[in-house]
Amino acid sequence: MIDLHCHLDLYPDPPSVIERVIAEGHYVLAVTTTPRAWAGTRSLTSHAPKIQVAIGLHPELVTQRYAEVELLCSMISEAKYVGEIGLDGSPAHKGSLNLQQQALDQILRRCEEHGGRIMTIHSRGAASSVLDALEAHPKAGKPILHWFSGTSRELKRAIEMGCWFSIGPAMLRAQKGISLVQLMPRNRILTETDGPFTMRDNNSMMPWDVRDAVTQLAQLWCKLPVEVEETLNTNLKMLLKN
Ligand code: MN
Repeated sequence: MIDLHCHLDLYPDPPSVIERVIAEGHYVLAVTTTPRAWAGTRSLTSHAPKIQVAIGLHPELVTQRYAEVELLCSMISEAKYVGEIGLDGSPAHKGSLNLQQQALDQILRRCEEHGGRIMTIHSRGAASSVLDALEAHPKAGKPILHWFSGTSRELKRAIEMGCWFSIGPAMLRAQKGISLVQLMPRNRILTETDGPFTMRDNNSMMPWDVRDAVTQLAQLWCKLPVEVEETLNTNLKMLLKN
């Protein structure tokens, strides 16, 4: 299974999650919400070659932690994966959009300077602005829009710009999410949980719970779950190539 957006360091007991991920052979991209969490999460997972760690600064934290933008930028040279980054335009965070945009611009510029990175990007309530930022930095790397919730028009633009998408069980539970997924190219889709912030039967979603998304995709695409897994594995290979 592939969980391309998981906050591994924020589970109550990360080592036990990591051990099960290793034992079951899942691929996990562990995103961080502050650059300070990157080194610690990397050392926790250093014995797990299929767990990669992305360096990020969550847009919801940019107001409190603007000073860490520089720190993040200084560490991008060592990082292959960047995230969670992006913009949040929901009512609670709309007020800091200008600051968020400045942070995102700096980060994308730094990614460009280093020849591009694989980036996992938050765009709630701000899809058009995220796409504007990506368009302004075309060499920033490969953007994966995580839990995309924009309009179908914004989705069309994202597809034309070459964006990838990571989708989870929560997104596939709502009709809006399903409609968007049906418009996404199947060769640019990957699965995610966004755990531990998403729930399954009142428990935090775990990386292996992406199987729910695989089952849901199988129904949507009229395929067998094993065929969906093959597609996702091929997609991951393409994403990680170069
Ligand atoms: Mn997240």
